[in-house]
Amino acid sequence: MKARKYVFLILFFSAFMPKTVFPAEIQPHISLHDAAAKLNAKLFWDPLSGVVILSKNGHNANLRVGDEIVLFDYREFALLDPPVRRDGNVFLTPAFVDYLENFFETLPPSIAYRVGAILIDPGHGGKDPGAVGKITKNGKASDIREKDIVLKVAQDVYSRLKAQYPDKKILLTRSDDTYLSLEERVEKANSVKLEPHEAILYISIHANSAFNPASAGFEVWYLTPDYRRTVIDKSSGNINDDILPILNFMMEEEFTTESMLIAKYISDGLELQIGDVSANRGLKEEAWFVVRNARMPSVLIELGFVSNSAEAARLADDRYLQKCAAGIYNGLSVFISHFENSRGFTAQ
Ligand SMILES: [Zn+2]
Repeated sequence: MKARKYVFLILFFSAFMPKTVFPAEIQPHISLHDAAAKLNAKLFWDPLSGVVILSKNGHNANLRVGDEIVLFDYREFALLDPPVRRDGNVFLTPAFVDYLENFFETLPPSIAYRVGAILIDPGHGGKDPGAVGKITKNGKASDIREKDIVLKVAQDVYSRLKAQYPDKKILLTRSDDTYLSLEERVEKANSVKLEPHEAILYISIHANSAFNPASAGFEVWYLTPDYRRTVIDKSSGNINDDILPILNFMMEEEFTTESMLIAKYISDGLELQIGDVSANRGLKEEAWFVVRNARMPSVLIELGFVSNSAEAARLADDRYLQKCAAGIYNGLSVFISHFENSRGFTAQ
């Protein structure tokens, strides 16, 4: 039985697993309540769905009647004897309970999972200016380019995160006016080395442009939930081909949930900082190339429209860009504390 570090959502694992019936006579089983008492863990049991969650010191083990997969902290899994239901009760094998005991004992209390790295990706750069708008400063007209705006904000977010989280890897895809292809950005994101129990967040920063000069405001995008992508890096683990698509699906759902949360927190953070002058266009979902190919929770922020004259003037103002950076940073901070401190039932 191998535990592997992958992400997925408990709600989806059951529907895709073959239902195995464990022969009850092989060994004496331990009832769920006795197991919870032995483990000194809190028990959540939903007889309707068959979902069982055992929780201790901020760690969760999720299992389900008839399924061999057990999820640990929504990140790792093991294949164990499927729990069986008899006379309205659920029973586990002693080996199953031993495995749970080992899981709960070997992890430090309440630091179930942490954000190990944040990759900030300022869009465009070099030969690719991104969206270009016009501003008039002291009677002089000049261009304002997306690649410059997003680099300033990205560097600011980077500095703030670096100061606040010295123990996390804070990274930029580019720190100057360099051109990077989308593939190179994805490659950078996917090649960041993480410790066990660490997650990486991918934050792409852009500015908008529209034919309608009245279009204005900021928006945060996350991946559309029904988009299918390959999130498991097959080379990194000993994954059985049968289980790969299932894990992939579950990880994807978990990433989507987390991406939506990050998007929400960043949107709220921006609202607090710039909501008085810029319209909050809300959360959007889309399958952006960079976002859908990064094997991690990821969002894309559009700071505003350079095609709107009032907004272009704001985006040309460094103090305004600092507010944007503060909004993004604050949103990320809220997500990090949520992610690292409440990976409990509500984290679903
Ligand atoms: Zn862009």
